[in-house]
Amino acid sequence: MTEPKAGRRSRIVVLGGGFAGIYTAMELEKAMDARDDFEVVLINKENYFVFQPMLPEVISGTIGMLDVVSPIRRLLPRTDLHVREVESVDLERKIVVCSPGFRAQPHVVPFDHLVLALGSVTDFRGMRGLPEHAFPFKNLGDALDLRNHVIRAMDEASIERHDERLRKQLLTFVVAGGGFSGVEVVAELNDFVRAVARNYPGLDPQEIRIVLLHAQDRILPEVEESLGLFAQKILIKRGVEIRFDTVLEAASGEEAILKGGERIPTKTLVSTVPAFPHPLLQGLPLPKAGNGKLLSTRHGNVEGQTSVWALGDGAILPMKDGKPSPPTAQHAIRQGAVVAHNIVATLRGQPLRTFDFLGLGKMGSLGRHSAVAELPGGIRISGFLAWFFWRSVYLMKLPGWGRKVRVASSWALDFLLPPELVQLKLGGSGGVTQEHFEPGQEVFRQGDLGDRVYVILSGAAEVWRKADGRVKPLARLGPGDWFGEMALLNQTTRGATVRCVEAMDALSLPKRDFTVLAANLPELRESFERVMASRRTAPAREDDPVPVGR
Ligand SMILES: Cc1cc2nc3c(=O)[nH]c(=O)nc-3n(C[C@H](O)[C@H](O)[C@H](O)COP(=O)(O)OP(=O)(O)OC[C@H]3O[C@@H](n4cnc5c(N)ncnc54)[C@H](O)[C@@H]3O)c2cc1C
Repeated sequence: MTEPKAGRRSRIVVLGGGFAGIYTAMELEKAMDARDDFEVVLINKENYFVFQPMLPEVISGTIGMLDVVSPIRRLLPRTDLHVREVESVDLERKIVVCSPGFRAQPHVVPFDHLVLALGSVTDFRGMRGLPEHAFPFKNLGDALDLRNHVIRAMDEASIERHDERLRKQLLTFVVAGGGFSGVEVVAELNDFVRAVARNYPGLDPQEIRIVLLHAQDRILPEVEESLGLFAQKILIKRGVEIRFDTVLEAASGEEAILKGGERIPTKTLVSTVPAFPHPLLQGLPLPKAGNGKLLSTRHGNVEGQTSVWALGDGAILPMKDGKPSPPTAQHAIRQGAVVAHNIVATLRGQPLRTFDFLGLGKMGSLGRHSAVAELPGGIRISGFLAWFFWRSVYLMKLPGWGRKVRVASSWALDFLLPPELVQLKLGGSGGVTQEHFEPGQEVFRQGDLGDRVYVILSGAAEVWRKADGRVKPLARLGPGDWFGEMALLNQTTRGATVRCVEAMDALSLPKRDFTVLAANLPELRESFERVMASRRTAPAREDDPVPVGR
């Protein structure tokens, strides 16, 4: 295996600052000594480490947003941290290429040993409407977006008293995925929404619907049946509607669409599935399993490689019993220790260690003072005891004393104080977004306020206008057509209804951004005005007008 080159320290480059990457670098730091024979570089998108098991608590505000993260520089004082996005890896030239920073040039980092610890990604590609309308739940930004959105939905529902359909949609929250993360998310969401409902005197708590979609016949397949059933009982008792054997197939901004055709009207859809290995791994000429994860040996090196190591959620690293390690933090942490040891052993010509960890059990929170835990020796606990155990273990695992104290005091205060209800708006969420519409769905209705312009990417929509008690079809629009500009340019309400007729993807530009563009690009404005004028004078289509109410 690779020996340190004479006169130069070997460089170990770790990609990813999650559980796997951070604990590898921590162990490498511990092995640094007077030999000064290696240096460690860690590349991560953010300058902080996210303690994912506590992320669902950010939704309810039980713990503060910053309490689930730790600055990597404090955790790894002797590691050279590069806060950049990794764009590619060249195994032959032994370099990692990262995104540019202030200088518009790629940042190239050479390595002697490479540790691949980029985790997994929630990938909605190929799932109709999910990339545009479902909330993933993986990192701090996801948790904050979801929390803000849920508070906004509650705020809106409290003033939409006249529109029952919209109000019910706003008060229906759907979570897809009944594994640990989906269950933890739905439990926190349920606790939060029901607890803060009392701050909205105009809301009827009976209208709140929290739905968990699960593809199998019982939730938490990761644990023994009795614990899964316990979790189900608790969630149902607390008002969660669990839909078993139910697969989420598609989404629009108006509804969650289930396999079989059923539609659940909602403005909030969270999906914790499906998770895939990091896309960057796909292009690497390294052995992979069918699901795209890198195949590692029990030493942690990628099969057939002596200086490339892979661990965590993006790798299949076998346990002592030959089974692949499950994608959990506890495994990633122990794998990190083995990989770090073996890299140093390789550099120093010492014997390698194997990954012998078999797991310490499984735990999942069910929200307010309840959890399930499966411990070694077949011990199973549930309810308050499991919840207390869950909290104690994660408090101990949380890196850094400062964070432990903060989280412990947030938890203590949570017993006394009502949930935090502040919506933290960090900058505008303006800019172009992509939206998906299903056939029959109205993009907007005649008389609505003009708030966006749309450009059709695929699919089709029809434009209808109501006049003299009848609705007339005005036009059929397809890819490349835009609509919605009239109300914005003329500062009026929508002059027609646009309804999707073929599953449609469209770019949507908010009024504020459209107005800035139209004001500063006269040619753009003129071309919009030309189209607008021709549409105004265009005769209604040949189809017969139909009575209002169609
Ligand atoms: C909501 C939730 C709850 C969970 N609860 C538990 C639990 O209770 N117990 C448990 O054991 N496990 C739990 N897990 C699973 C656990 O968090 C993962 O198994 C663990 O985080 C995997 O570690 P990792 O280092 O492989 O990946 P991650 O922790 O995902 O780390 C990957 C890192 O790579 C970085 N990265 C990705 N792409 C790039 C790029 N191109 N350039 C630079 N950096 C990049 C990311 O920013 C991230 O820091 C939970 C997961 C979630 C999402």
